[in-house]
Amino acid sequence: MTKEEQQDINRARQLAEEIVGPVRWTTDTAGYCACHGRNLHKPKSDDPDCKIHLDGPAGHSMLFCFHGGCENELNATAERLRSALQSAGIRFEASNECMEMLTKYLKA
Ligand SMILES: [Zn+2]
Repeated sequence: MTKEEQQDINRARQLAEEIVGPVRWTTDTAGYCACHGRNLHKPKSDDPDCKIHLDGPAGHSMLFCFHGGCENELNATAERLRSALQSAGIRFEASNECMEMLTKYLKA
């Protein structure tokens, strides 16, 4: 990894945490954070987690929630995250892990 790539990752993570809150990063560009719609989860759950991917298709970031009922909040947060990374001019290659999440959670 080049120094520039490492700087992009650090900057992107920082921007992401400003928007979604603390993230438990599991890869350079993906991790878990508390869903902004956690109070709306149906059925109610003690586990507030959703998954954050900075490495979605076409350079986009993505949020995936394992719960239901929070779609509006999740989408609004995802949109803020996406535009923050776009404004910063940071984009990552799509990861296999994110593509798998997409097929699993966004089945049409
Ligand atoms: Zn949620």
